[in-house]
Amino acid sequence: MTSNDERFRKQLEAERAELLETISHFEVATRQKKPGLGNHMADDGTEAFDQAAGLALHRNDEALLAEVDAALARLEKGTFGMCDRCGNEIDYARLRALPYARLCIVCQQVVEESIRGNGHRR
Ligand SMILES: [Zn+2]
Repeated sequence: MTSNDERFRKQLEAERAELLETISHFEVATRQKKPGLGNHMADDGTEAFDQAAGLALHRNDEALLAEVDAALARLEKGTFGMCDRCGNEIDYARLRALPYARLCIVCQQVVEESIRGNGHRR
């Protein structure tokens, strides 16, 4: 365990705690909602829209939490900071900005380009 690993672990754990809190707040808020009790049609519409937007954010938080968990698991295994695709070390500055990054910047670009390029194939 290097001091860098320790730093990333703290960063990831802080991120994880924050995500867990956001997610649990969302779940409490959803449970307290009483759909169908609005007095006006317009209010119901707005509420449904807010819920959909909230749900999209919620899904995003859960996906992010999974990434953070995976990164913590890689720290445990000692494979943290290695690119999933090419096995090279991920740039330190990139990890500082995005500690749960799975790919080095080169592979990230290749993957993003192939997603864009293959967008209509499936
Ligand atoms: Zn790579």
